[in-house]
Amino acid sequence: MERRISGHTQLYALIGSPVGHSGSPAMYNYSFEKLGIDAAYLAFDVPVDKTKDAIDALRTLHAGGFNVTMPCKTATAQIVDRLSPAAELVGACNTVVFEEDGTMTGHMTDGTGFVRNLNEHGVDIKGKKIVLLGTGGAATAIAVQAALDGVAEIAIFNRKDEFYANGEKTVEKIRKAVPSIQNVYIEDLDNTELLGQVIGQSDILINATRAGMSPMEDVIPVPAEFLRPELAVADVVYNPKETLLVKKAKEAGCCAAVGGSGMLLWQGVAAFELFTGQEMPVEEVREKFF
Ligand code: NAD
Repeated sequence: MERRISGHTQLYALIGSPVGHSGSPAMYNYSFEKLGIDAAYLAFDVPVDKTKDAIDALRTLHAGGFNVTMPCKTATAQIVDRLSPAAELVGACNTVVFEEDGTMTGHMTDGTGFVRNLNEHGVDIKGKKIVLLGTGGAATAIAVQAALDGVAEIAIFNRKDEFYANGEKTVEKIRKAVPSIQNVYIEDLDNTELLGQVIGQSDILINATRAGMSPMEDVIPVPAEFLRPELAVADVVYNPKETLLVKKAKEAGCCAAVGGSGMLLWQGVAAFELFTGQEMPVEEVREKFF
């Protein structure tokens, strides 16, 4: 490290809270070193009310860009100078690039990371009918990217909790911004009968809720009997590495059973490319850190 950091080393950062558990510094610093890029990546614990102060500081220090995690993603989208189409629709960004003129562009790579991970597992979403569980941050990014990437139908299911209204807004935004989509709607996740029917007519089931995440490892977001071989199943939850949903999807012989760690990897790959214009050494990063 002491030989790698110079007087010219460019700073990249992660802001949000908490950040202590983040794997991003290891993944980015390894890639900088591997590709001979004179840059370093640090994580900074930033509460939401300090988002603007942190961004001003990074600009003052001529950082190249930064990633944003909860709870600062929405606040950041309101501060940057422009947003990518996906970030605009989601209303949040997880990657910000400082352009040469000092302005900031906000991107949302969670959705692209999710889709890329599905592609890596042989699942193409174009023209497909998907059932998306969840209306929080991850689910919104996925719904928007899936719509932009040309899915035929998105059926969103969520509990009638404090996140439900956000799902209704997402449906409206997608209908307006992507009129070519055949159908997008939201229903109550507790309507198990309807959920079963809709999954029965769909190609891909995505869990983007917290169900199944540690310490809820024994929770499965849909009854296992809804899973069938023609259905591709993907979970965004990456802790535990194999969720109960993914395990049951494998047991049911689903044509794909995809965990959440790949989404984490590929959203990072997309951000790295936005920062540096170069491809992360994906296979080595996957082997070392995932
Ligand atoms: P969030 O707090 O924004 O949204 C939570 C969602 O989960 C809401 O839709 C809520 O209604 C639902 N929910 C919570 N408990 C539930 C339960 N017991 N049953 C059914 N639904 C429930 O969270 P988020 O940021 O969208 O994260 C959701 C999950 O996605 C987390 O496990 C997170 O770690 C994971 N995630 C993964 C990646 C990745 O790269 N793989 C990226 C972002 C988030």
